[in-house]
Amino acid sequence: MHASQGEVPEAAQKGLKTTLRKQNLFLSCQCLPEHDMTVSLPDAQGLDTRAVIASREMLNHNVMRLLLRPESGFACEPGQFISLINGDGLARSYSVANNPVRDGVIELHIRLLKGGMMSDFLREEAAPGETVTVRGPAGNCFYVSDDGRDYPIVLAGTGTGLAPLYGIVKQALAMGHNGAIQLFHGALHSNDLYLVEELLALAAGHAPLRYTPCVLHDAPGSLPGPFYVQGNIEDVVLSALPSDKAPARLFLCGAPEFVNALKRKAFLAGLASRHIFADAFLPSKPMPAAA
Ligand SMILES: Cc1cc2nc3c(=O)[nH]c(=O)nc-3n(C[C@H](O)[C@H](O)[C@H](O)COP(=O)(O)OP(=O)(O)OC[C@H]3O[C@@H](n4cnc5c(N)ncnc54)[C@H](O)[C@@H]3O)c2cc1C
Repeated sequence: MHASQGEVPEAAQKGLKTTLRKQNLFLSCQCLPEHDMTVSLPDAQGLDTRAVIASREMLNHNVMRLLLRPESGFACEPGQFISLINGDGLARSYSVANNPVRDGVIELHIRLLKGGMMSDFLREEAAPGETVTVRGPAGNCFYVSDDGRDYPIVLAGTGTGLAPLYGIVKQALAMGHNGAIQLFHGALHSNDLYLVEELLALAAGHAPLRYTPCVLHDAPGSLPGPFYVQGNIEDVVLSALPSDKAPARLFLCGAPEFVNALKRKAFLAGLASRHIFADAFLPSKPMPAAA
């Protein structure tokens, strides 16, 4: 359950991830309140916020950066996700790539799919000035410094799985994280990568951060190189896991097959499951079966 007011007894949060504790979530079966508490089911928290489309910009051939300006206060941790709802009630989940409280806008990175309903709306209809609805936030993929600022962080994402990781990295740096931060971004081809120059510059200016783009199929000529590692991002990440695995945190976002496979392999390699934070970008409807 979620406590909106009152102190949550420590025992009711024992064993929960720090990200869940920070959101005042607790185990009702373990909760013996010592003071009055106002509680609700987590699902009942979803408050809608109206937001105006501030800008749309293509970051590569199919990824759009959408900036939304909330009409009223909207708080979320970089890396959580929201539901974007258009005027026809069409809703899709998107991860937040920035700190909306600091920036005054919500930054989303959206891969425009051919024939996708929200993709078509964003490509053809949504214009700056138009109002949409934002529901949420939700999700546990975000940075916390409750356990110190020295632990190693590994972040790996495919495609627009970079969005939450970009938000988490910038938040960790803003909060003075000292431990090593390794960011891996996987793409099929080099022209599917995006924000490359921004991330190279961010890494050059912040000693703890290392940024490694990974490209599965080399396609010379699409972007000047070689600035990426060629190969399977899963293998690249597994070979780069810190030797001291006990304190390490792993964030995984993007294609469900990638997220689920690497989650399992990282756990088998010695990472604690409570230190693995993952958001699989599940499609809104089943994908057509492969021929
Ligand atoms: C927690 C969460 C966070 C997400 N965050 C992001 C994000 O930050 N950025 C982002 O771009 N997307 C994200 N997604 C995916 C997003 O919610 C939509 O599924 C996606 O944008 C497609 O919506 P659409 O309406 O354009 O396509 P739809 O009309 O829903 O689908 C059109 C067709 O494309 C297929 N399809 C849907 N998704 C995929 C896919 N990933 N790969 C291949 N085919 C697909 C569908 O099966 C369907 O046949 C997230 C999903 C979840 C669950």
